[in-house]
Amino acid sequence: MQIKPLALALLIAVPATAAEPDTKRHQAQIDQIVKEISPVRIEATIRKLVGFRTRHTMSDTVSETEGIGAARRWIKAELERCGAGTALKVEFDSHIAPVSARISRPTEIVNVVATLPGTQAASVDRMYVVSGHYDSRNTDVMDASGDAPGANDDASGTAAVMEMACVMARYKFDATLVFMTVAAEEQGLLGAAHWAEQARQKNLNIAGMFTNDIIGSSRDEHGKKDDTQVRLFAEGLPVQKENSDAVRTLIQTGGENDSLSRQLARAVKEAGERYVPKFKVNVIQRRDRYLRGGDHMPFLERGYAALRFTEPAEDFNHQHQNIRTENGVLIGDLPQYNDYNYIARVARVNAAALSSLALAPAAPQKVQVRTAKLQNDTELVWQANSEPDLAGYRIVWRDTTAADWQGSKFVGNVTEFTMPQSKDNVYFGVQAIDKDGNVSPASYPTPLR
Ligand SMILES: [Zn+2]
Repeated sequence: MQIKPLALALLIAVPATAAEPDTKRHQAQIDQIVKEISPVRIEATIRKLVGFRTRHTMSDTVSETEGIGAARRWIKAELERCGAGTALKVEFDSHIAPVSARISRPTEIVNVVATLPGTQAASVDRMYVVSGHYDSRNTDVMDASGDAPGANDDASGTAAVMEMACVMARYKFDATLVFMTVAAEEQGLLGAAHWAEQARQKNLNIAGMFTNDIIGSSRDEHGKKDDTQVRLFAEGLPVQKENSDAVRTLIQTGGENDSLSRQLARAVKEAGERYVPKFKVNVIQRRDRYLRGGDHMPFLERGYAALRFTEPAEDFNHQHQNIRTENGVLIGDLPQYNDYNYIARVARVNAAALSSLALAPAAPQKVQVRTAKLQNDTELVWQANSEPDLAGYRIVWRDTTAADWQGSKFVGNVTEFTMPQSKDNVYFGVQAIDKDGNVSPASYPTPLR
C-alpha cells in the first residue's frame, strides 16, 4: 500500500510513543518452567545426597559411595546427564583452603558450577547466580566422619539448584545463568567466597545472586505447618570497613532501603508471586538471621546484590545435630522432616525470578536526579540501555515509609523525564522494560549536581 504524503508527514512529525508492554502477563516459557519443576525428582536428589552418609568438607574424597568426594562427582555427573544436548556447561571450581578456624589441614574445596550462557549479545555478560551448599555437618563442626545427612541443610538448596539447572537448560535467556552447588559453607563460607572473589577480580557483572539454604521444611519446632511462604533475606547497606562512594551516596540521600539487594528483592518478590500463586515471598529486611550467615555474604561483601531464601520457621532439632533420640524425639537433619512439595514451591519462586531477570533488560545505569534548581518537580535522567528488544522505561515510586512500589508510569524510550512529585517526599526508581513486558529491577537515582 502506498502511504499518502500527508500520512507520512504525520508519522514523521509525531513519533509513535510506544504503549506500555503488558508487564503483568505470564511469559509462556516461565509458566512451563514452573510447571516442570518436580518435587519427586527433588526428593530423589535429596535422598541420594543423604546416602553419601556425610558430606563434611574434610570427609573422604576417595570412596565412590561415601563422603564429599563421591557427592560432588555425582552432582557433576547428574548435571552433565540432564544438560546433555543443551548449552549447559558443567565444571568443578577447585582450590586448596589453608588451615583456618574450621579447617584442620589444607583441604581441597570444590564447587560444582553449571553455566547456561545468555543468547543475547547485549546481555550475555550479565549474570545471575543461584546456589545451595552441598556440604553437611553434625553437632561438632570438625567431625569429618560421623553421620551428617544434611537433608535440609543443605541438600534442600542443592537439590533445588540442580532441578532448576536441569529444567532451565532447555530454555533460552538473554542473560547468563550460573547454577552453583558449593562446598565448605559450614567451614566458613569458603567455597562461595572463592568463587565470589574470582568474580570480583575478573570484575564479572553479577547482577544478582540468591542462595537457597534450609528451604526443606514447612514445620516449626512445635509441629505447626506453614507451606504458604518463604523468607527472603535482603540486606540494606553492606557491612564494609570503609563505605564505598555508592554506599555513602545512599546514606546521604536516605536511600538505605534502596540498595542493590533491596531492589533485587522487590523484583524477586514480584516475579515469584506472579508465577507461583498463593505463595508469599516474605522479604525480611536484614542480611540474615541474628548472627547467622550464608553463601550470599561473600557476594555482598564484594559489592554484589545477593539474597538468601530460607523456610519460614526453622526446627533446630533438625539441623547441625548428631542423629539421636532424646526424650522420645528423633533429632537430626533427616529426609523425613523435609516437605518435598514445599521445596518444589521455593524452587519455582527461584526459577520464576531468575527467568524473569534473565529475560529482562539490565537495570538502567547512571540514574540521576537533577538537583541544581530548587524545585518540587523531579527531573530524572539516565543512560540508554543497549538491548535491541528494549521497549522503554518505567518510573516507579513509593512513600518513604513503604516497602514496595506504589505507583508507576511508563515514559517510553527516552532518557529523561520530569515527574510532578517532589524527590524529597517519595522514593523514585527507574526500570527498563522489553517488548515482551519483562521488567528490570529498579535503579535508585543519585543526585546530579
Ligand atoms: Zn546451611
